[in-house]
Amino acid sequence: MKEIILCKYGEIVLKGANRRFFEDMLCRQLRQKAKACGNFDIYRAQSTVYIEPLDDSADIDAMMAAAGKVFGIVAICRAAVCEKNMESILATVKAYIPPYLEGKRTFKVESKRSDKRFPLNSIAISGEAGGAILETCPRMRVDVHNPDVTVKVEVRETAAYVHPGPVKGAGGMPVGSNGRGMLLLSGGIDSPVAGYMMAKRGLQIEAVHFESFPYTSEMARDKVLRLAQIVSEYNCEEMIVHVVSLTKVQEELVKHCQEDYFTLLLRRYMMAIADKVARRFKCGALITGESLGQVASQTTEALGVTNPMASLPVFRPCIGMDKEEIVEISRKIGTFETSIEPYEDCCTVFTPRHPRTRPDLKKVMAEEEKLPFDELVDEALAGMYRVIVTPNGYEVNER
Ligand code: ATP
Ligand code: MG
Repeated sequence: MKEIILCKYGEIVLKGANRRFFEDMLCRQLRQKAKACGNFDIYRAQSTVYIEPLDDSADIDAMMAAAGKVFGIVAICRAAVCEKNMESILATVKAYIPPYLEGKRTFKVESKRSDKRFPLNSIAISGEAGGAILETCPRMRVDVHNPDVTVKVEVRETAAYVHPGPVKGAGGMPVGSNGRGMLLLSGGIDSPVAGYMMAKRGLQIEAVHFESFPYTSEMARDKVLRLAQIVSEYNCEEMIVHVVSLTKVQEELVKHCQEDYFTLLLRRYMMAIADKVARRFKCGALITGESLGQVASQTTEALGVTNPMASLPVFRPCIGMDKEEIVEISRKIGTFETSIEPYEDCCTVFTPRHPRTRPDLKKVMAEEEKLPFDELVDEALAGMYRVIVTPNGYEVNER
């Protein structure tokens, strides 16, 4: 029996004149994903993207999983395709649906007839299809209010489709439909989650990672790049990670500035550098995993001291979330196990014993003036190199 995948989209349907643009974007991204799943034809019609297997190389299970990571798709149906006549539809219902009813007690059939020339209306189609199921699976009962399974029959332009209801898609908006965002990516739990959440709202993600070699190790960097690999699955293309060394900045801070301001000063450098990198690579926003009150540098006052260093909007999708909620998402997207590997981060070397939680901007700036800020920023940027990350691996281009 011939199968197909039908992807339905949500919010994009509302986008009026831009709709075509969004739909094309979705098709491109699904085609990109399909490369790893075999030979598929991908096209759109009637507010649906069709993913049609072309030969035996097409791995439908893999394609279902891949489509589940494409933002903008709200529902994914794996369906049997048949001719547009009742004989063929009923034969397909009888052959295709029973395995999905195993262990279930109740069902209903919902039909949709977008081809109004089809002789039966949707109620009549559902009635006949329901009868066919009861014939094949006599132990099943119809429950129109709260069924275990809702079988769907869709009569569309060129064919009819039969399936046991959709699985949930990733939701959100197609990656890139809201421009590009520069994620400040550490090896922790929060920042990969933040990247995922903003990709979901349509930002194509690029990342900047700060290291502090030799105070941070090669293994710490590898961990971050493995996290980037997981996030890149949602990015639909490769993801670029720009790596910037803060070794010199940190050494100078330790030598010249008051200890309780180290972290705040370092974070001001991070924001300023990330902002420059973002502008250089045409990103319209910065993204961080900051969560209000989580640590000393994330109090309202501390954010008030670090935020002004960014000229672009800073998106902090975790700001109002508890750690538990962030952890739940990181488990769902598969970054948690990597995030908890115990490697050092540049924020955890030279940490002050008593960091300021209610810093005063004037005092911070007085400390900052002890160092040549712009020079240190330029020097750090001059040493920046990039890593190209895909779901399958990464390649370091040391400039
Ligand atoms: P954790 O889960 O340990 O809190 P985190 O990534 O949130 O990890 P924080 O120290 O809370 O780490 O840092 C707050 C935010 O600052 C991060 O979410 C991240 O966006 C950014 N950040 C921290 N360290 C780095 C780094 N080494 N490189 C790039 N961005 C960083
Ligand atoms: Mg954090």
